[in-house]
Amino acid sequence: MQHYHYIFTGTGLAALLTVREMVQHPFYRDKKILLLDADAKKTNDRTWCFWDEKKQFENIQHKAWEAAVFADAGFERRFAMAPYTYRMIRGLDFYAAVFEELHQNPNLTFIQEKVVDFQELGNHCLVKTENQSFTSNYIFNSIFNPERLMAQKKFPLVHQHFVGWFVQTETPVFTPDCATFMD
Ligand SMILES: Cc1cc2nc3c(=O)[nH]c(=O)nc-3n(C[C@H](O)[C@H](O)[C@H](O)COP(=O)(O)OP(=O)(O)OC[C@H]3O[C@@H](n4cnc5c(N)ncnc54)[C@H](O)[C@@H]3O)c2cc1C
Repeated sequence: MQHYHYIFTGTGLAALLTVREMVQHPFYRDKKILLLDADAKKTNDRTWCFWDEKKQFENIQHKAWEAAVFADAGFERRFAMAPYTYRMIRGLDFYAAVFEELHQNPNLTFIQEKVVDFQELGNHCLVKTENQSFTSNYIFNSIFNPERLMAQKKFPLVHQHFVGWFVQTETPVFTPDCATFMD
C-alpha cells in the first residue's frame, strides 16, 4: 500500500488552491502528496466571479469588469469599482492552469478514482478508492457529506446554492463592460 504525507480527497477549488500554496513553501518540498478525484476536471463545470485587487489569475481571466450597475424597474446606479476589479474565470481554465503548474512537481501524484471511504486510524489515515487503498499522515477532504454537516450543532447552518446560467438574447440587451448585479 502506498504511503503519502498528504492525501487530498477531491481536488476542486479548495484543494487545488491549497496544494498550489503548499508546493511553493520549502516545508513541503520533500513531502509526497496524492490528489484523488472521481472527475478528470476537464469540463467547464462552473465559472467563478470575485472581487480582486491583486491581479489574481489575471492570466486566465475570461472577463473582467471595472464598472457595475445595480438597477430595478425604477432605479439605476452605475459605479466604478476601483480599487477592485470584478474578475471572472472559467473552472476549466483554472483546472488546466493549476494542473499544468502541479504536473511539473515530482512529489505530486494525481489519480482519477472515486473515493469510497477514508478513516483516521491513530497515527495514520486510510483512504480507499474503488480500486485501491492508500495511507497518509493527513487527509484534506473536500467530499461533501451533508449528514455530517447537519448532525453538528456547534455552528448555524446556511445553505447556499449556485446555479450557472448562460443567457442569449435575439437583440443586444447587455452592457458588456458593466457587470449587472442581481440581474
Ligand atoms: C455553477 C456554479 C457557479 C459558482 N460561482 C461562484 C462564484 O462566482 N464565486 C464563488 O466564490 N463561488 C462560486 N461557486 C461556488 C464554488 O464553486 C464552491 O464554493 C467551490 O467550488 C467549493 O470548493 P470545494 O473545493 O470545496 O468543492 P468543489 O470545487 O466542488 O470540489 C470537490 C471535488 O470533490 C470531487 N469529489 C466529490 N466526491 C468525490 C468522491 N467520492 N471521490 C473523489 N472525488 C470526489 C469532485 O469531483 C470535485 O472535484 C459556484 C458554484 C457553482 C456550481
